[in-house]
Amino acid sequence: MKTGPKLNTYGATESDYATTYLQEYVRCGKANCQTCSAGTEQGHGPYWYAYHYSPALKRRFKKYIGKKLPANVELSSHDGNS
Ligand SMILES: [Zn+2]
Repeated sequence: MKTGPKLNTYGATESDYATTYLQEYVRCGKANCQTCSAGTEQGHGPYWYAYHYSPALKRRFKKYIGKKLPANVELSSHDGNS
């Protein structure tokens, strides 16, 4: 029996729609790229992406940021000290 996180829009707080910043590796797809062809499974990066969920459109948006986060970005960590 699965006990995953529920995707329930009812009762969602404002923080559920907050922008989340994640680091991801990307592959450029170039045949002669040493980074992507060096046997690593990761590729370039990590680069920062901002994920934002729009409750109006009921979908999540992904926005490329870059190698560095803007200085004014607050990271909401999931270290579970609740
Ligand atoms: Zn590459």
